[in-house]
Amino acid sequence: MPTDQTTAERKGLIIGGQEIFTDSEFAVLDKYTGDVIANVAKASKEHINQAVSIAQKTFDQDQLTPYQRYEILKRAAEILKERKEDVAFTLSREVGKTITDARGEVDRAIQTLTLSSEEAKRIDGEIIPISASPGAENRMGYAVRAPLGVIGAITPFNFPFNLACHKIGPAIASGNTVVWKPASDTATSAYHLMNILKEAGLPSGYVNLVCGSGSQVGGWLLEDERIAKYTFTGSAEVGRYIKENSGLRPVSLELGNNSPNIVHHDADLDLAAKMCVLKGFNTAGQACISVQRILVHSQVYDQFLDKLREETEQLKVGNPLDAETNIGPLISKKEADRVMTWINEAVSQGAKMITGGKQDGSIVTPTILSDVNHEMKVVCQEIFGPVITVMPFDDIDDAIEHANNSNYGLQSGIFTTNINTAMEAVKKFRTGGVIINDASTFRADAMPYGGIKDSGIGKEGPRYAIEEMTFLKTVIINL
Ligand code: NAD
Repeated sequence: MPTDQTTAERKGLIIGGQEIFTDSEFAVLDKYTGDVIANVAKASKEHINQAVSIAQKTFDQDQLTPYQRYEILKRAAEILKERKEDVAFTLSREVGKTITDARGEVDRAIQTLTLSSEEAKRIDGEIIPISASPGAENRMGYAVRAPLGVIGAITPFNFPFNLACHKIGPAIASGNTVVWKPASDTATSAYHLMNILKEAGLPSGYVNLVCGSGSQVGGWLLEDERIAKYTFTGSAEVGRYIKENSGLRPVSLELGNNSPNIVHHDADLDLAAKMCVLKGFNTAGQACISVQRILVHSQVYDQFLDKLREETEQLKVGNPLDAETNIGPLISKKEADRVMTWINEAVSQGAKMITGGKQDGSIVTPTILSDVNHEMKVVCQEIFGPVITVMPFDDIDDAIEHANNSNYGLQSGIFTTNINTAMEAVKKFRTGGVIINDASTFRADAMPYGGIKDSGIGKEGPRYAIEEMTFLKTVIINL
């Protein structure tokens, strides 16, 4: 039974370390039961102004040394480790992801905070051999990395905790301050992160949490000229809006994909089927690098499809808090309806349902579609649901051309036992990352991660995010 909205816990905005409650609130729901987890305060334009002012003042008066930043972020990672079950429980409820996937997200966030802490001690610059330039004799030059200032961070619903750590960790490591707007559907895990950072010793004002609707709060953040940079993870549509409305300020945009994976005739088919199913249906397919399009060599097509179906049919759908469950609900019934509409549309256009295709409220069963073509939405757009499409190919060059036939370019995968085929694919794939003998969904938090085309601009991974949150300040001394 859904909880009465008035009895659920209330959460405020966190600005300058103060929790601010407002008259206007929105409910964050348990995506499986429909219970209200918490009622969260909606920010007004004045709250955004206040949050940016405090973030700016904190930046201007910043006294933290790189070693203190290292200690704070390291301690945050340690506290998170102790609090893993609590955070995973919240994530499982607010996203609807399985408790196993939620624990995996917390483990990754521990890594992201640890990597950010380590990077805090490595931010360096370079000596410029300036005296070698004609007219610059007797000059010494060097360049240091300086923080940009207030970072506007906007995060999505699917990995709400780790993707926030990918923005906040590097920002703090490199001497910036943050105003953070999480996705409304999953705003409750944000409070775990805010508490952990506070307990780890981060002074107030460094990270300020403002919640509310994307178009309103996001719009006000974009209007504020004091924000030096926007770092956004979310849909291509909103990413484009942010780029168009941020003027000359730098933006990092981590957007969507319809990830291609090639299975060649010489691939380890058991491995390929296992990885594609494991990674294709993680978080019910709501991952930006989820396996969406599998291109299979015609020699092994039938065999692979059988293995894929067998693996998929072993998955257990249901309550995400049950440790046995592999697939929980989508973020909303509306999203489940959209995914089903796309599946049914593809079937009406000639696609064959190999397995799945059933809906129960916001749950969609893991679905495999064959006989698909590039005009179908399930192929040419980002499905963001538990749907994998499969098509055969005869020639590897054609397969790569098909894979590249997308507005997106985040990550791709290829399964082959031939190193030359793999290297040729690396050269030809138009994606920010290529994964060999694992699915496109592979991500380790240290690696440079980010796409091209409509998949976005810039790279994340603490070391790379720090480069984008700092600028090289050149210093020349006349000796
Ligand atoms: P979304 O674009 O709907 O929302 C993302 C965030 O932007 C939310 O906080 C939302 O409130 C906010 N927002 C909405 N409208 C806004 C506006 N006009 N101005 C400013 N902010 C606004 O995305 P989502 O549904 O939360 O997440 C799913 C999308 O995120 C998918 O496309 C997925 O591929 C992408 N994603 C990408 C990565 C990556 O690293 N490349 C990772 C995870 C998710």
